[in-house]
Amino acid sequence: MNYYNLKDEQETVDFKTATIKSQGHHKGLFFPESIPQFDQDFIQNLHLYSNEEIAFRCMKDFIGDEIPEEVLKKIAAETISFDIPLKKINDSISVLELFHGPTLAFKDVGARFMSRCLSYFLKDQHKKVTVLVATSGDTGGAVAHGFYNVPGINVVILYPKNRVSLVQEKQLTALGGNIYALEVDGNFDDCQRLVKQAFSDEGINSELFLTSANSINIARWLPQQIYYLLALKQWQQNEKTDPVICVPSGNFGNICAGLLAYFRGLSAEHFVAACNENDVVPDYLETRQYHPKKATATLSNAMDVGDPSNFTRIMELFEHQFEHLKTMISGYSIDDQLTLQTIQEVYQKYGYVLDPHAAVAFASLEQYLNENPGKKGFILGTAHPVKFPEAVEKAASIQIEIPEELNDLMKKDKKTVEIHADFEELKRFLLNKNQEQ
Ligand SMILES: *Cc1c(COP(=O)(O)O)cnc(C)c1O
Repeated sequence: MNYYNLKDEQETVDFKTATIKSQGHHKGLFFPESIPQFDQDFIQNLHLYSNEEIAFRCMKDFIGDEIPEEVLKKIAAETISFDIPLKKINDSISVLELFHGPTLAFKDVGARFMSRCLSYFLKDQHKKVTVLVATSGDTGGAVAHGFYNVPGINVVILYPKNRVSLVQEKQLTALGGNIYALEVDGNFDDCQRLVKQAFSDEGINSELFLTSANSINIARWLPQQIYYLLALKQWQQNEKTDPVICVPSGNFGNICAGLLAYFRGLSAEHFVAACNENDVVPDYLETRQYHPKKATATLSNAMDVGDPSNFTRIMELFEHQFEHLKTMISGYSIDDQLTLQTIQEVYQKYGYVLDPHAAVAFASLEQYLNENPGKKGFILGTAHPVKFPEAVEKAASIQIEIPEELNDLMKKDKKTVEIHADFEELKRFLLNKNQEQ
């Protein structure tokens, strides 16, 4: 399969190049040249296939023979080697729990798939590859775990000192091995600035092979289609009608993967884009005007995005046909007050604890189902509530226990190198690290 650059259709690359480069010229995103179709027999009978087989079938057309079949099967199996249950919250709304992976975040899936592809493609390189990321909390943990102990790769993560939660900090700093955490005396913007500077610094790039694990990378974007197949597999056991699928959205990579699966033949009734106060896309669906905004800080902070990168991929999928897009997607914007109220009500009525991101999705789907009676659907649960304890405890007055999966990690010591928000310090660290190997 080849991929073209959405900002310059002349630039086409294979899967390997798109994975290594992340972006094309003019920072354009890559997009598949064709939309491979699912076999309808497969889609109607997902229960006949193991999760590993579903994941492999979902991905293989996008990779072709660039990764041998046995290797891709192994990568697909490792990518989803944890539970992804679909649970009923009430009669009309279920939740696909995507947070049983190593960092309790759905980003684990994409990060695991990408790290293993990258490692395969770079196995004959002599230089070690350094994945450099800045994180405000969640992405860094998923990347750290996704790349942990993957041969040929070092990961350097910059995070703002005192600004990530306890669980998040452990996930970034306690692994050791090939994962290095830099605790920056500054804020997230400082971390991001330092990383950008490193990518354009000649001194660093002549010594090290730097790459990013950005969410716009196709090897992180495409495997997210697997969620929707695994959800449908479970949905089909109990339900007769096609589901309305509601996705808590920030950069719109996740929902865009769901839509891609839909264009390949996945059965779905409708998609709902659930946003917090950052409402660029719901606004667009209402007015046909796309106006990027500065991001507003909310309780569902992984969705605080004012100009979603993957929106352009969605437009491409719908061949820029606004009317078609509108028949398939509805958008809702939910404020912090309704988010907290939803966490509280869902806990009281159904005994289910939502994290703020899933609460935004629940409130959105509930509104859609009220406006469209007789339908049923599911939301994507993208993070475990324990990662957002303040909001959840405030809303539902419950103490959330740290899940067993995390016990070992919480006992480990934090290992970091502290730096000032100063590029020369980062540069020195990267070059010294490289010398040691
Ligand atoms: C990243 C993230 C999202 C948003 O996903 P996109 O693909 O960027 O739309 C939603 N919820 C959580 C918990 C996240 O970490």
